[in-house]
Amino acid sequence: MTDLLAETTTSAASIVQERRVVTAVPGPKSQALHERRLAVVPAGVGTTLAVYIEKAHGAIVVDVDGNQFIDLGAGIGVTTIGHTNDAVVAAATEQLNNVTHTLFTITPYESYVRVAELLAEHTPGDHAKKTVLVNSGAEAVENGVKIARKHTGRYGVAVLEHAYHGRTNLTMAMNFKASPYSTGFGPFAGDVYRAPSSYPFHDGLSGPDAAKRTISYLEKTVGASDLACLIVEPIQGEGGFMVPADGYLPALQDWCTANGIVFIADEIQSGMARTGKYWASEHFGVVPDMVLSAKGIAGGLPLAGVTGRAEIMDSAQPGGLGGTFGGNPVAAAAAVAVFEQIESNDLLAEGTRIGATLTAGLLELQKTYPVIGDVRGIGAMIAIELVQPGTTDPNPEAVAALSAYAAQNGVLLLTAGTYGNVLRFLPSLAISDELLADALSVIAEGFARL
Ligand SMILES: *Cc1c(COP(=O)(O)O)cnc(C)c1O
Repeated sequence: MTDLLAETTTSAASIVQERRVVTAVPGPKSQALHERRLAVVPAGVGTTLAVYIEKAHGAIVVDVDGNQFIDLGAGIGVTTIGHTNDAVVAAATEQLNNVTHTLFTITPYESYVRVAELLAEHTPGDHAKKTVLVNSGAEAVENGVKIARKHTGRYGVAVLEHAYHGRTNLTMAMNFKASPYSTGFGPFAGDVYRAPSSYPFHDGLSGPDAAKRTISYLEKTVGASDLACLIVEPIQGEGGFMVPADGYLPALQDWCTANGIVFIADEIQSGMARTGKYWASEHFGVVPDMVLSAKGIAGGLPLAGVTGRAEIMDSAQPGGLGGTFGGNPVAAAAAVAVFEQIESNDLLAEGTRIGATLTAGLLELQKTYPVIGDVRGIGAMIAIELVQPGTTDPNPEAVAALSAYAAQNGVLLLTAGTYGNVLRFLPSLAISDELLADALSVIAEGFARL
């Protein structure tokens, strides 16, 4: 048993960091697994690509047929410091051998406290902060809203157009896009107010003008005094990696502060070293009252956090927050290792490097292919919006064709965008410039064939 484990660990860590396609994609073993899956897993659990993964390391995933893919998605921004990072695997394995579960609200343990300390230290602002740990991003959003309501005694929840916050009942009500996230699943939670956002490629508005539009919408449709919180993704994720115009987020924050509204940054996709800083909020000079984290925080293990001003977080009564698995010791130990890796290997600089390489390569492609309407994003969170050439109209057909071509040729490339009009690049920080150049060459061939 011990030998087997050692062998598996070595084999993932020894994966050569290169693209290699040895069968049709998906290959025969993946196809056989997919048949089994279709019989027992409901259709609602979608499949982007029916390629079944056996092992992964760094920026490469290997499927059951032996194909090696350059992973530009990182499980939607989860394995941010790389697949099977040695330090994360070691920390989680050690914790697994010591204690797997106690339930923090019954008999606590140190790693939960350490994650809360690290989040207090590394989130924006030097005020006193506290953190509750939960299992998923949607659960973090739910708890953020719960706490903001308790703190303010108000009910209203403000969100933005093109937002994505999860798949629970409350978060379905907060998403912009109905299909596929909420179609047929109602009734939904009430008192959610959706305001226009900042989307420079389409609205052409300055940050202050876009903020004026957002604020006046909310003042008219609900009124500041009935709003508990405003939740923003500093760079919108599923909506298509919209980077708000300069000055937009600071103006929203000022309005929230002036009106006693809790300003919440959903950094679930944009945070945890994704953009060359710990949190995308830092690029815009905002200090949120609350930061929501999940995805990349624990190197692939399920963990999420709500970190906020101590006086806001303490407004919930004892027993009002928590859950059976929240802040699980193995996930918490992994998260501590992720923070240590970011610090000791200066991984924030890797995000900046990746952003520069991707942006330069994609801007070069844009010169040849007018179907690339916009290149945007920060750090290892870059996207291209594909358009009908000469317009800003969405081109979801080109997006689908490109991501399919990439997969066939050993590159995992995710789509996004309210209109299915965006290709997003969310590689791990472990990806080399050589692998990025190889992936970009595949994407260039894809455009040439469109
Ligand atoms: C993924 C995501 C969520 C939901 O997280 P889950 O862990 O899937 O519940 C919420 N907000 C943003 C911005 C996300 O990207």
